[in-house]
Amino acid sequence: MSTKKTNGVNIRSGMDKDSLREDIKLHLRHTLAKDEFSTTSWDKYRSVALTIMDRLNDRMLKTQQHFYKTNAKRVYYLSMEYLIGRLLDNMLVNLDVRDLVAEALDDLDLSYEEIRDQEWDAGLGNGGLGRLAACFLDSMATLGIPAIGHGIRYDYGIFYQKIKDGYQIERPDLWLKYGNPWDTVRPKVQYPVEFYGNQTTLQSSNGNTHYTWENTHRVKAVAYDTPIPGYDNGIVNYLRLWKAESSAGIDLKSFNQGQYIDAVRDNQLEQNISRVLYPNDKVFVGQELRLKQEYFLVSASMQDIIRRFKKQSSDFTKFPEKVSIQCNDTHPNLAIPELMRYLLDEEHMDWEKAWDITVDTMAYTNHTLLPEALEKWPVSLVRNLLPRHLNIIYEINRRFLDDVKIKLGDDKSRQSRMSIVGEGEHPVVHMAHLGIVGSHKVNGVAAMHSRLLKESMFRDFDEMYPDKFTNKTNGITPRRWLKQCNPDLSDLISDKIGDEWITALDELKKINKFADDKKFRNKFAEIKLENKKHLAEYIKEHNGLDVDPESMFDIQIKRIHEYKRQLMAALHVITLYNRLKENPDLDMTPRTVIFAGKAAPGYTMAKLHIKLINSIAEVVNNDPEVNQKLKCVFLQNYSVTLAEKLIPAANLSEQISTAGMEASGTGNMKFALNGALTIGTLDGANVEIKEEVGDENIFIFGLEEEDIDQLRREGYNPWDYYNANEELKQALDQIRDGFFSNGDKELFQPIINALLHEGDYFMVLADYEAYVNKQKEVSALFKDKDEWNRKAILNTANIGKFSSDRTINDYNDEIWKAPKASLDK
Ligand SMILES: *Cc1c(COP(=O)(O)O)cnc(C)c1O
Repeated sequence: MSTKKTNGVNIRSGMDKDSLREDIKLHLRHTLAKDEFSTTSWDKYRSVALTIMDRLNDRMLKTQQHFYKTNAKRVYYLSMEYLIGRLLDNMLVNLDVRDLVAEALDDLDLSYEEIRDQEWDAGLGNGGLGRLAACFLDSMATLGIPAIGHGIRYDYGIFYQKIKDGYQIERPDLWLKYGNPWDTVRPKVQYPVEFYGNQTTLQSSNGNTHYTWENTHRVKAVAYDTPIPGYDNGIVNYLRLWKAESSAGIDLKSFNQGQYIDAVRDNQLEQNISRVLYPNDKVFVGQELRLKQEYFLVSASMQDIIRRFKKQSSDFTKFPEKVSIQCNDTHPNLAIPELMRYLLDEEHMDWEKAWDITVDTMAYTNHTLLPEALEKWPVSLVRNLLPRHLNIIYEINRRFLDDVKIKLGDDKSRQSRMSIVGEGEHPVVHMAHLGIVGSHKVNGVAAMHSRLLKESMFRDFDEMYPDKFTNKTNGITPRRWLKQCNPDLSDLISDKIGDEWITALDELKKINKFADDKKFRNKFAEIKLENKKHLAEYIKEHNGLDVDPESMFDIQIKRIHEYKRQLMAALHVITLYNRLKENPDLDMTPRTVIFAGKAAPGYTMAKLHIKLINSIAEVVNNDPEVNQKLKCVFLQNYSVTLAEKLIPAANLSEQISTAGMEASGTGNMKFALNGALTIGTLDGANVEIKEEVGDENIFIFGLEEEDIDQLRREGYNPWDYYNANEELKQALDQIRDGFFSNGDKELFQPIINALLHEGDYFMVLADYEAYVNKQKEVSALFKDKDEWNRKAILNTANIGKFSSDRTINDYNDEIWKAPKASLDK
């Protein structure tokens, strides 16, 4: 590594303790202008971060130089969301200097933990989709793939959730309030992004018709780069996020007329584009500002991609050999007409050639089958904002429907089903259809989800393009989700099998043979108990509640959504409560049932579920007849940082979605990796987790996707289940009669209506009995500590498939085909 030496110390790139310590001191004094009298904890955090940034930047420049020199194919990951969380701990883990830095800080009498906890989460995402993008960045760097992530640098990330009187309230997430030490602005990397205006026809000298887009409104996109280190491999990629700035500067005309404030105010409107992350998970909200955000990401990224390509080539037929673009859901799919527009209007290419290049470059990942999540933009909106793109989309669709006729026969209803532009009085642009037609590969995110895509939602398309649809089962990075968040378990594993598992997670299979080793089992259990004690302290501090670390920690953490069925777990808590009230001496396995998750601010039913859980908790936790054996906790503001505390402390992982509705899930993988047993339906990646860990080591219950389908077709009546199960009836009657709401019968009526009077779309009642019975098995097993721990170890040992390294290798082998670099450290 770099060797600029001052007094025997490697300044600003050395990874030894002395240079780290000296640089922390220098940054504190010279960069932050603080001395021992004025330093705050935040300053200390910043000086450590700056010290690490020096080293990251050094390696990033070397990495990028290498990719440039080798003219490597680049992978561009386009995502509206990156749910990153904190970075300091992650950077140190990936650079393998966490212990060194802790020692350097110790020399200065500083506590690493205190400094680490100064950092605010980068919460630029809602849930699984955004977290997946963050795990992918980690794996792409670790595998040495020349990848760049592109997104938006929102001023406000996902809202901060507070719980007040049991209700969710949303507070703005001012994550940049004190600055962000991890990104570097690139004032010279800025592009104009155009909106509105009109399409104009030009006749060129050779008689061909060309189009241009004129009279547009301009916004500036400015690049902010965050380094993404691979694990211990010398590679540093980066995430490039775009911030919107006004492009015009001050409107001189208004200015001269003395309208100073007006001239300035107008500019600020442009900056709204990157102001705030839309807080909806898996639901389409057709607002113009959101469409602007999507095009803003696409336009800036595409200009950046093309600029880099052109530095090394002017032959656009080579574009797909040098560029792969992966769209995380349909949100960035305007990249398809945008690339077409560039090739047609700027490069004056003919349509067929431009189209082949576009399709060969683009790939699209579908994340959900839920119909309310599908992006369908009103044509009127697209016409107004992006008139040239709308015309390109029409032409793509015209040619596509001709093709459908040739390949699949002249079937009008099929053509109408497949059309990119919907018909009718209020026509829409169907972004998933655009993504399928304009990409060479389309993938789902777990085997079951990908199969359902081919069989149901995209069946016509699969018949048309039999080789286009593929599966890429999601994964999680073992660096953050084991090494970083559960250091004691990581050390125990490394002591036994070495540390290859960190980049080759299948190595964990070597742990299998220790499942029957009593000493190992006890160590494994001790670590789990320690993690639970830490979480118990956190719960005491934040909720003022004592929980017993020896009780089973039964955890459901994820976005609050009816299909994820937090309600079913809540009904189980009520059932346990009623059994204990009926028989206070019941020999029940003590449980602490923990929930966390945000509801979209406009999702009234999900917010009411939060209130119900808190109301149940209030009753249960304050009843001395039951609260030695049962506690219920809702932790506010679920985030990556909170997940890192909860997952290592879990005994039971709740993955209980309505079968066919959870595309994959990744929380399920994090829990199993950290030695929790799963109770779950056969949905999403649960199916594959069961295959890996073995039927005996997971609790599967409930209706399967085909059963749900059949029940819906034959007519499902929730009352049948209500009447047939006394415990279910009792729980629902209590909710209805105000038992959990101080006699208020109105409050939870919408929940009762949804379950009993409006058909229980998510089939909570249909699965209740199977769930409660399976929970009985869970409780029985937990009493047998040895057996429970054995199964927990087997979960950790056999979950290697779900490393995002495996996922990324799958993408690269089958879609991107980029080279992999390795550099000297
Ligand atoms: C992993 C993760 C998710 C996704 O959880 P699912 O259970 O798969 O829905 C959501 N939010 C955060 C903070 C996560 O870390």
